[in-house]
Amino acid sequence: MAETQLDDVRKVFTENDGNEIVAVNDVSLDIEDGEFLVLVGPSGCGKSTTLRMIAGLETISDGDIRLDDRVINDLPAKERNIAMVFQSYALYPHMTVRENMAFGLEESTDLPGDEIATRVEETAEMMGIDPLLDRKPEELSGGQQQRVALGRAIVREPAVFLMDEPLSNLDAKLRAQMRTELQQLQEQLETTTVYVTHDQTEAMTMGDRIAILNDGELQQVGTPLECYHEPANVFVADFIGEPAMNFFDVTRRDADDDGTVLDGDILNYTVSDDISTAIGDRSDLVLGVRPEDISIERSEGENRRADGHTIPATVSVVEPTGDENIVYLELGDDGNETAIATIDGMSRIDAGERVIVHIPEDAIHVFDAKTNEALH
Ligand code: ATP
Repeated sequence: MAETQLDDVRKVFTENDGNEIVAVNDVSLDIEDGEFLVLVGPSGCGKSTTLRMIAGLETISDGDIRLDDRVINDLPAKERNIAMVFQSYALYPHMTVRENMAFGLEESTDLPGDEIATRVEETAEMMGIDPLLDRKPEELSGGQQQRVALGRAIVREPAVFLMDEPLSNLDAKLRAQMRTELQQLQEQLETTTVYVTHDQTEAMTMGDRIAILNDGELQQVGTPLECYHEPANVFVADFIGEPAMNFFDVTRRDADDDGTVLDGDILNYTVSDDISTAIGDRSDLVLGVRPEDISIERSEGENRRADGHTIPATVSVVEPTGDENIVYLELGDDGNETAIATIDGMSRIDAGERVIVHIPEDAIHVFDAKTNEALH
């Protein structure tokens, strides 16, 4: 077990034509002892490069990586006591499962052969792969290969596990099952784990904390619920949550009665003093609201309320997912602005219906349109 720290870690790749790519841009991150931290972000944001630097598979351009307060920047990968599990499993095809699992221990420790054999068998039993010990990887299903790859990492009893999209080659059902199993295993072993995925659902369901990267830069680190309810900026607000948050470009206007109104194409949204204070004198803003926070009801001739919290809309599409319906809305009379709401799966609303959309004030997020930072 170990605390792992990244201190202004930077990685610059130089292409053949001399062009520089900043893959990881001064990332600082404190991964606590025993924590399950998920590194999440879109393709190309620098997740794998970060993980590979921690593993020692990639050099660091600048900054420090520490394992229990010891700088390990120049420590060779095999001396780091870190085990990595890859998306491709990376099992040795000519070796049996038993040999695959024993190999790392034979290479990196002085343990006697019989002890290695015992550890391999105990780990195989724990992972439910003991009946497969004498098979070669080609004789295993994808799910079994994945389990062997995990078993091979676990048997080494490393200080840190690094996992790079380890479940992405599995079908949806097996992936969901392995997510739970992996979490349970990690809780049992209490080994610090850094898990990379581009899948925000995986991040939300698995991580003690999640670290969200975009363009090589760390956007936010927090518990899944913190990142969901208090996104630090527009990127996080948009990336976390499915369907994504609705955003409306608005400008601030002082109302006649001292209040503050956020004016948009459709919205003329009066905000509370709290929000008004948070906005200060900024004028270009983005108002965000999550689909599940929007409520809709059938229109009975009523139109928008004066405070702008209620606006008329037309339902364009309804997508049932079982427990909920995803409702696509065209706002206002000309339908230029759109929004997505999720409602209970039992509620009946059909495409073409006129509805009243309510955006409650306690559910709105306000961002600075220039910096994209959250203000409220
Ligand atoms: P994905 O989810 O697609 O695997 P990622 O978030 O893991 O993406 P990285 O693989 O870390 O992203 O890549 C980050 C950036 O660095 C990308 O722009 C990528 O093209 C670039 N990059 C990665 N490895 C190299 C390399 N060896 N040489 C040049 N550029 C590289």
